[in-house]
Amino acid sequence: MSEANNQPDWVARSLKSVWHPCTQMQHHEAVPLVPVSHGRGPWLYDHEGKRYLDAISSWWVNLFGHANPRINAALKDQLDKLEHAMLAGFTHEPVVELSERLSMLSGGVLGHCFYASDGASAVEIALKMSFHYWHNLGNEEKREFVCLKGSYHGETVGALRVTDVQLFRDAYGPMLQQAHVIASPDAREAKEGETAIDVAQRAASELEKLFEEHANKIAAIIVEPLVQGAAGMAMYDPIYLKALRALCDKHKVHLIADEIAVGCGRTGTFFACEQADIWPDFICLSKGISGGYLPLSLVMTRDDIYQAFYDRDVRRAFLHSHSYTGNPLACRAALATLDIFREDDVLLRNRERAVKMTNALSPLATHPQAKHFRQRGVIWAFDAVIGDAQKAATFSRDFFTAALEKELLLRPIGTTVYLMPPYVLNDEEIELLASRTMAVFDQVMNSR
Ligand SMILES: *Cc1c(COP(=O)(O)O)cnc(C)c1O
Repeated sequence: MSEANNQPDWVARSLKSVWHPCTQMQHHEAVPLVPVSHGRGPWLYDHEGKRYLDAISSWWVNLFGHANPRINAALKDQLDKLEHAMLAGFTHEPVVELSERLSMLSGGVLGHCFYASDGASAVEIALKMSFHYWHNLGNEEKREFVCLKGSYHGETVGALRVTDVQLFRDAYGPMLQQAHVIASPDAREAKEGETAIDVAQRAASELEKLFEEHANKIAAIIVEPLVQGAAGMAMYDPIYLKALRALCDKHKVHLIADEIAVGCGRTGTFFACEQADIWPDFICLSKGISGGYLPLSLVMTRDDIYQAFYDRDVRRAFLHSHSYTGNPLACRAALATLDIFREDDVLLRNRERAVKMTNALSPLATHPQAKHFRQRGVIWAFDAVIGDAQKAATFSRDFFTAALEKELLLRPIGTTVYLMPPYVLNDEEIELLASRTMAVFDQVMNSR
């Protein structure tokens, strides 16, 4: 950070020509960009060899470290065979194999895969499929959607309809046809004497009321199973998903599971929904599915939904396409990722890692300036206790900067600090990450 003068000249040029995402560009007058030269395992390196532990998996996408030798080898092999071919009228082995293996992971229940490149598009595909399904069945009035308070499903215009983030609502609300927003089962909402299960049941009964009055107009409800990521790692009891499945069945509403962040083992099972012992009507996957290598997203759905589109009439077909639909390189990266899950018994190894990390972070459970220390699978989070609103507003940026000084890449969401590391940390890296996270937290809290 301090060697700004020795940086390659393209770092400063970045601010002129590159419009960075999720960024007020003016902040970079004070905060320098971090140039990345290469990555290895959980570490990112700059041009001078300064390293940063990628404790948020580069925005939740990386599963098995940077420059993973096995994923690299698969991609090099694929590169010499086929980089891309259109998927309308054509097919290729990687996309077929990936679809079959994902279907198998759902016990064959979600046996049809539709492909796109980013998470927001997968969400839009699921919304469109649900709407079009009801239309094809003659239920044209079913065209509304439901999402949870604090939900995040992406930032394209269609995905923002079901994203409940105030900042986006304020900026883009007038462009959008809003969905119904219902109570979140966020366990932090527990009142005196309530358990997480009580909160989940309370949230489910609110949904039941909405369904009783409006289900004839509602196509689908979309949720982030078990953990609402962008809401600040809001975790909830699986019983909520069970209740949701029952209510959706009873009222004939589709259940869309947005597993873009929580899928691929992040919550402890391959799909988060498995922990509630349910299957939704649609699962959206992206982020980790390509191991964090290439843009890839997909929607998995059931045969009865697929059959509602199967017809001679083009207008009954699902009308959606992207130029890079089913890109073979991205599919090969995904297949290599699934291979690692199988060969390395990743879900089991992650359970062992999680116990170590939770132990190492245990002082946070009783820390006077932290509350709601929580964990599910390979996600840890806690909320900083800050009374002053102005200080709360700068907490995230201060923490990010202080963490970089201690070789950590961490970006709190508001006042929620979270860890979402790749599934490759060894014991030493677990200790390092836990102790430095706590040191950064103390430093930032004591300096205000
Ligand atoms: C990241 C994310 C998305 C959007 O994915 P993009 O690839 O960024 O468009 C949607 N839903 C959830 C739950 C996410 O975490």
